[in-house]
Amino acid sequence: MGLQFSLPGKVYLTGAGPGSASLLTLRALDALRSSDVVFHDDLVSEEVLSVIPPHVAVHSVGKRCGLKRTSQEQIHNRMIAEARKGHSVVRLKGGDPLVFGRIQEEISALREAGVAFEIIPGITAATAAAAAAQIPLTERFGASKLVFLSNHCCAEKTNTQLDENLAQDSTLVFYMPGSNLAELSERLLRKGLSEKLPCLLVSNVARGAQRLIRADLRSLSSLAEQASPSLLIVGATVASAQPDELLLQKDEAHGEAGWHTEDLALDEPTPENLFESKLPL
Ligand code: SAH
Repeated sequence: MGLQFSLPGKVYLTGAGPGSASLLTLRALDALRSSDVVFHDDLVSEEVLSVIPPHVAVHSVGKRCGLKRTSQEQIHNRMIAEARKGHSVVRLKGGDPLVFGRIQEEISALREAGVAFEIIPGITAATAAAAAAQIPLTERFGASKLVFLSNHCCAEKTNTQLDENLAQDSTLVFYMPGSNLAELSERLLRKGLSEKLPCLLVSNVARGAQRLIRADLRSLSSLAEQASPSLLIVGATVASAQPDELLLQKDEAHGEAGWHTEDLALDEPTPENLFESKLPL
């Protein structure tokens, strides 16, 4: 009678980065390639999923548009069950799992179940967006504070945070900025921010449809909702996102190399206060 041993399994709470597979860490790639099963969120791009070998079982456990296809508790139970079979389990989340990734609940569940786990950080959308725009998020003589905020579901809480953090020397990064940019712009103006404060709306960073739009805080209110996912950076460092050759790729749809202003109700739209560009990856 042969004895059957199975090594204890392990869960890897892993950052998938913003979209491009080239922005995965080597550790994340290694975990994906040696995994038995992957549970991923909706935010994880097809390009990242395509690096997973075909023999690995891949399950989507996303919560698109607030519709909970798989409850948080079901995700915990499935991860724990797989690990207890001796499997190597990757829980794959967009960007960095530690940034607006609801990871605390998963850490607690795994600890409680006595299942070994490791956290593999990833590139968060804020830094990927800043890299795409070629701007810093902090600046030695300017922005000395960097604030990551969620503008989703908890407007009151965000209001409180804004009160505390709206100093001149901050860069504010709004994850999940929502569809109502006019409301967000008004709220920030009411808090006393200058209407000339530079804003950068970045959608689909590090994905095929990446789009960067710069505006000031006042003109932000007249921007149409952008494709999801998108992220908003507000602060003086955005001003250094000079439209240069790299940012201003020729945009056939709008004639002038990448510049178009027709969607924006600026009094005097000029290249200095507004640009839009699309970058091929
Ligand atoms: N853990 C993720 C954030 C999850 S919250 C991270 O570290 O990036 C989801 C929000 O992240 C989105 O609504 C959007 O604001 C932002 N986001 C994630 N990926 C993005 C992308 N590729 N482009 C633009 N914004 C992105």
